[in-house]
This record gives sequence, C-alpha cells and structure tokens, in this order.
Amino acid sequence: MILAFAFFQNFSYFCDIKNTEHNCYENMLSIKNLHASIDGKEILKGINLEIEKGKVYAIMGPNGSGKSTLASVLAGNEIFNVTEGSITLDGKDLLALKPEERAAEGVFLAFQYPVEIPGVSINNFMKAAINEQRKYHGLEPMPAPEFLRLIKEKKELVALDKKLDGRSVNQGFSGGEKKKLEVFQMAMLNPKIAVLDETDSGLDIDALRIVAEGVNKLKSNDNAFIVITHYQRLLDYITPDVVHVLYNGRIIKTGDKNLALELEKTGYDDLKKQADEMYK
Ligand code: ADP
Ligand code: MG
Repeated sequence: MILAFAFFQNFSYFCDIKNTEHNCYENMLSIKNLHASIDGKEILKGINLEIEKGKVYAIMGPNGSGKSTLASVLAGNEIFNVTEGSITLDGKDLLALKPEERAAEGVFLAFQYPVEIPGVSINNFMKAAINEQRKYHGLEPMPAPEFLRLIKEKKELVALDKKLDGRSVNQGFSGGEKKKLEVFQMAMLNPKIAVLDETDSGLDIDALRIVAEGVNKLKSNDNAFIVITHYQRLLDYITPDVVHVLYNGRIIKTGDKNLALELEKTGYDDLKKQADEMYK
C-alpha cells in the first residue's frame, strides 16, 4: 500500500515534468501562464491553476482582483483578450473553442449577476441548452418524457419554488431565486467543471444552504468545482480541498480550507502588501 502510494506520488511528479514536454494531461483542467486583458489593460497576469476531478477549489480575493475575469475567460467571453498562456480540458485546447462549444465540452459558469431573458421560459431555455449540447455530441434531441423527468428531479434537488414554473428566465426573480436557478441549470447540464462566481452574494442563510447542498449533491469523482467567493461564509457549507487567493491578476497564496478561515480573521491586507512588494 505504502509502495503503491509512493509510486503514485512519483508518477505524478514525472507527469508534471512531462506536462511541459510530452503533453501528459494528468489533470482535468490545466491553466498555464494565463494572461488576459481588456481594452489593452492587463487583468490576468500569469495564472497557473491545476484542477483535478473530484475536488472543490475556492478562489478568494479582494474585489477587482480578476476573479470574475478568470471565470469569463474560462467560459470564453470574447470581450477579454487572451494574450498568453493555455487552458486545456481533458487535453483539449479550450481557447480554440467558442463559448457554446466549451459549454458542450462540460464547462459551466454560474454568473455573479445572472441575466434576465424575458419571453423565454425556464423549461424551454433548458430544453434548448440540453439539445444544443446533445447535437454537439452527435445525439438526437432528448425525448420529452426523459426531459420532463430530468427537470422534475433537478428542480427538487435545488428546491426550486413551484411558483417559478412557467416564468421567464430570471425575470423578476429575487437575488436568491436567481442563484438557485443557476444551480438548477448546473444540475441539468451536469458539467465536468462548474465555476460558481460569488453565487453566495445576496443569499439569505436558507438560500445559501440550498445552493451549497445542491453543489454537494452534484459533486462526484468525475467533476470539479471552482467556487469563487469573497467571504468564508459559503465555505462553511462547501468544504474546499484547495483555496487559492487571487490578487491583482495573480494567485498569491494557496492553502487548504484553513487558509479561508485564517483570511476571515486577518483580512487580505498583509497578503496584498507582500504581493505589491514582490511585483512592484
Ligand atoms: P473580481 O471579480 O475579483 O472583483 P473582476 O474580474 O471583476 O474582479 O475585475 C478585475 C479588473 O478588471 C477590475 O479592475 C475591473 O475594473 C476590470 N474589468 C472587469 N471587467 C471589465 C470590463 N468589462 N471593462 C473594463 N474593465 C473591466
Ligand atoms: Mg467578481
């Protein structure tokens, strides 16, 4: 057993070396030296992030650090210009794919500010999204009974209120309802990598718990979550395996769940000072 463990450790090590030379894609999602800018202003300044299946990653950091930008770049938002670096998902070059292709490959982004889509019902929106992804994979549209079964199961999973049935996507929804709908969409699409951008903001404690429970139920050995959050609060309910602190476009500290607890007490000031000193 110990030998096997040692071998595995060594294997990962060699694989890391091979990563640069022989295209060994051990991790599901691999972000290397990612630089991105908007209107000529550099926002991401060399992000390295390795995401393994079955794990939850928290990205924390002060406002304006680039957390949402990282999520947008991952999802393929074209307003950002990737100037350097790479993103691969199971070995595939994500940067070469359009946003909808990335989604079909299993990237899901729950927005910090979900948009309203007047005139489009939740069910029709989900049907279109699922069938587009099926088409990408060469599958027929999902048969209606299967779709209805799935939608019922997932609505229950996130305790989506019945009164939202038949309503247009996010139109007139409260903050909490919008965030729940994001988690519901995630449950329906069953992504490989789900990014939740401040899904906790604007939630009361009950909605927060439901959102967190939804994530915990969806967690499996085949997917991974990146939970972006400003506060420790959400992490009381979703335990991260790894915590990264993003500041001024760089990951300046990495730790386990205790790092989040520590930051809750100390704030970001010391870390910011150290980083400002290092990169001045
Ligand atoms: P965070 O999510 O960590 O609060 P953001 O990624 O939203 O940070 O923002 C990082 C930086 O990028 C900020 O300085 C912000 O003003 C800038 N930025 C983000 N989006 C845009 C945009 N659409 N146009 C111009 N600047 C932007
Ligand atoms: Mg943000």
